Amino acid sequence: MDLRSAQDYRLVQVFVSENGVFETYIALGENKFACTCPGFRARSWCKHCEFITERAKDGYALELVTHHRPLTDEISEDAEKFREWVIRNTKVMEI
Ligand SMILES: [Zn+2]
Repeated sequence: MDLRSAQDYRLVQVFVSENGVFETYIALGENKFACTCPGFRARSWCKHCEFITERAKDGYALELVTHHRPLTDEISEDAEKFREWVIRNTKVMEI
């Protein structure tokens, strides 16, 4: 499955690690995460999912860049538009 175009998943955070840039997604309507990193592919779990799960207990909030564009319903309803929005308007997390 390609998470980047799956309509029932939304990108929650972009991570940068020493071995690359990875995207962590949430399944809509479920408290279930998925990630594009090799660790997740091997074990269905990874440090990125763990990080988000830990943060999500208090409600996960993306960190916006200074000059961000507002998030509209039209963007939220489309997985690919939402991914674009996250990439352009929120901060990448380094872990
Ligand atoms: Zn991961």
